[in-house]
Amino acid sequence: MSKTVLETRNLTKRYKTQLALSHVDLCLKQGRIYGLIGKNGAGKTTLMRMIAGLGFPTEGSIELFGRSIQEDLAKTGKRMGALIESAGLVGGMSAKENMHLQCLMKGIPNYELEDELLDLVGLADTGRKKVKNFSLGMRQRLGIATTLIGDPDFLMLDEPINGLDPSGVIEIRNLLKKLSGYDSKTILISSHNLPELYQVATDYIIIHNGEIREILSHEELDERCKAYITLESTDVNQLTTVLESQLHTDQFKVMPDNSVRLFDLLDERDRLGRVLHENGVIVTKLAVFETSLEDYFMNVIGGKEYA
Ligand code: ADP
Repeated sequence: MSKTVLETRNLTKRYKTQLALSHVDLCLKQGRIYGLIGKNGAGKTTLMRMIAGLGFPTEGSIELFGRSIQEDLAKTGKRMGALIESAGLVGGMSAKENMHLQCLMKGIPNYELEDELLDLVGLADTGRKKVKNFSLGMRQRLGIATTLIGDPDFLMLDEPINGLDPSGVIEIRNLLKKLSGYDSKTILISSHNLPELYQVATDYIIIHNGEIREILSHEELDERCKAYITLESTDVNQLTTVLESQLHTDQFKVMPDNSVRLFDLLDERDRLGRVLHENGVIVTKLAVFETSLEDYFMNVIGGKEYA
C-alpha cells in the first residue's frame, strides 16, 4: 500500500456568496500523477491555492505527509512545489538566469542544482536564448524546473498543458513520468481538457461546481470508455451459452436489465450475428456503443456541452 501524501477533509472555500469548493475529501498516494479535471470555474485553482497555503479555507483541513498545512506551512511548504497561475518567469532573461533568480528568491542559491534541473527538463542547451523567445512547451518546462528547486516530494501544476501542441504535451508527459517514476514524486496537475490530461495522468479527480464528482484510476477510466456491443435476446442464457461455446469468448457482462455487453468481436459483427442465428438465438437488438473521454466526463458532471 503506497504512502498517503496529501489528505484533505471537508475542505470548503466560500468567496462571499460564491461557493468555490464544497466539502472536498481527497487522499493522494505517493508516486501517482493525479489529473484534476473540471471546466473553467469548477474550483481547480482554488483547490490548489488552498493546498499551497495561498488562501485560507472556510472550513476543513489539509495535511501533507501527516502535517497540517494551516498550522505548519513553513515545514509543509518545503515539501511541495507549486506552479499556480504564473511561473513568475522573466522574459528578458535566459533559462539559466531565471533559475538563478528563482533559487535566490527561494533562498537556495546553488549553481549545480540550477544546471541539474535545466538538464532534467531538457533545457540545458538553451544558452543565452531569452525566455520570451521560448515555445510555450519550453516555458512550461522551465516553470516546472522552478518548482523543483528544493526537491519537493509533492508538485502541483495548474494547467501546465493548456494550449500546448501534441509534441508539447508529450514533452510534459515524459517529464512528469520521469519525476513520478524514478523519483516517486506525487503530482497534482489540473486541466479543463480530459483528452490532454489522459496523456499524462495515472488517476483522475473530476471536479464540478466545487464538488468532487468522481475519483478514478486510468485503468478504470479505460474500462468505462471501452467500446462494446449491446445484445438483447428473448433467451439470455442461450445467448451467453452460444457466446462461450461457439464464439469462444467470455468478454461479456450480463446487465441488470438482461441485456448483454460484449467487449469482444467488435470487428466481427457479421460473424457474431450469423453464429447466433445459426444456433437458434433470437437477437432483438445488436448495437455498438462507444463512450469518448469527453462523453464520459460530461456524463459525470451531468452536462451537455464540453468546454
Ligand atoms: P478553475 O480553476 O476550475 O477555473 P477557480 O478555482 O478559479 O476555477 O474558480 C472557482 C469559482 O470560484 C469560480 O466561480 C470563480 O469565479 C470563483 N472565484 C475564484 N477566485 C475568486 C475570488 N478571489 N473571489 C471571488 N470568487 C472567486
